[in-house]
Amino acid sequence: MAKKTNVLFAAFECAPFLKTGGLGDVAGALPAALKSDDMDCRVILPLLSQIPAKYKEKMKYVEHYDVDLGWRKQYCGLFTMRMGGVTYYFLDNEFYFKRAAIYGEFDDGERVAYFSMAVLETIRHIAKNFRPDILHANDWHTALIPVFLREKFNGDPLYDRIKTVFTIHNLKFQGQYSAYMTGDVLGLQGTPAEGQMIHDGAVNFLQGAVIYSDAVTTVSPTYAEEICRPEYGEGLEGLFQSRKYKLSGIINGIDTKSYDPATDKALVVNYDASTLKKKRENKLALQKEMGLNEDPGVPVFGMVGRLTMQKGANLVSDLMGRFMSRNMQVVVLGTGDHVYEEALGQAAFSSGGKVSASISFNEGLARRIYAGADVFLMPSLFEPCGLAQMISMRYGTLPLVRETGGLSDTVKGYWDHGEEADGFSFKDFDASGLSNAVDQALNLWFDHPDIWKKLQSNATGRNFSWEESAEEYRKLYRSLL
Ligand code: ADP
Repeated sequence: MAKKTNVLFAAFECAPFLKTGGLGDVAGALPAALKSDDMDCRVILPLLSQIPAKYKEKMKYVEHYDVDLGWRKQYCGLFTMRMGGVTYYFLDNEFYFKRAAIYGEFDDGERVAYFSMAVLETIRHIAKNFRPDILHANDWHTALIPVFLREKFNGDPLYDRIKTVFTIHNLKFQGQYSAYMTGDVLGLQGTPAEGQMIHDGAVNFLQGAVIYSDAVTTVSPTYAEEICRPEYGEGLEGLFQSRKYKLSGIINGIDTKSYDPATDKALVVNYDASTLKKKRENKLALQKEMGLNEDPGVPVFGMVGRLTMQKGANLVSDLMGRFMSRNMQVVVLGTGDHVYEEALGQAAFSSGGKVSASISFNEGLARRIYAGADVFLMPSLFEPCGLAQMISMRYGTLPLVRETGGLSDTVKGYWDHGEEADGFSFKDFDASGLSNAVDQALNLWFDHPDIWKKLQSNATGRNFSWEESAEEYRKLYRSLL
């Protein structure tokens, strides 16, 4: 049999160990989906102190060694465990990873630089069992991996044949620091990287990854095109334009086992595509749980996610007054910018049971909203992929999205697609765009319940499993070897 292709997947967060957003979901699901007769994918992560003890107890200590970082020599402990058919490597260093917060520490730049060097050093220590052909790095926290690989490990036969893929899940965060770090922390003085990673006078980790990786992907085809334009490029559009030849977009899947209304333990009543009527019981329970008026005849619009402008929280809070004058309910779950938390909390307080907001992170409630709502609001300013709209469709809840990034690639809006649609959409990021789309949904709900049901069945019939996307990644890896 031909040799298996080995992929080492590096990420700073990974469900179920630790997750703050979509990156965690992807790292938790894609490696298992990639495994096949001719491919093995293993995951390498920092052993952050926030990882629950129940996982730490299952990890096995392997060995420890030093990692060079600029003039520093730092400890690295290697732990491993297998779960769900995937091998995980955890890198331990309490100085960097035993912190009050996962992100937002004063020395994040040094923490992620350490992790990137430690991943590369670890390859030497696992090579007997697993010699990577592909190193797949994700987001700015691991962006230095492709840079260090070429600048620090060049000439070592163990490393020279490794190809790198870098995936951008969120371009907002690029890892921009004082240029001073390039020498003192990264140890890249005198290398081509020293100049190439400078952008607007600062060292930019993500820029380094885009230049040094063999392939760059984003998490949807539309977003891969959008980031070549100034509106979405976050200042790096020129860089992406010049690297178009190695830039592509592969849409994320969702974990269809975990997000399955037929088995989801968080729901009041389980159901599937053929028993969507049972959503009604979930809706009544949600209305009760959230203090909304208990009325199955009124459409409930749900929103789960970070309360930021990216997610359109400003549009939703601006429109609350108008929403309250309509025959509809709104339920919001999320945390984020104080101004939106405050505005949505206030709206809920004065809505007389029409609006409810939970300013928290609550996985169970999120699932009950996916199941109990009728429409799922996702009016994003930009959206690399977005998972929530796919989860909501699986739960028979019609997404209402702005046409951008992954939302364009996954939702067919009623305006353009009529009865072939599986949701609602609007183009311009402004209050009237969102308001018109909401009116369209209300019109369909009250006046055309048969078409509503058709759209629901289109939505639940969509296949959002990882299978197809995993095959796209396999093709990409093969094309590099
Ligand atoms: P992001 O840009 O934040 O990664 P995604 O839609 O790709 O957005 O993924 C968000 C994930 O996090 C979804 O699984 C969503 O259900 C979950 N999530 C977001 N906010 C909350 C919250 N407040 N409580 C529970 N789950 C949340």
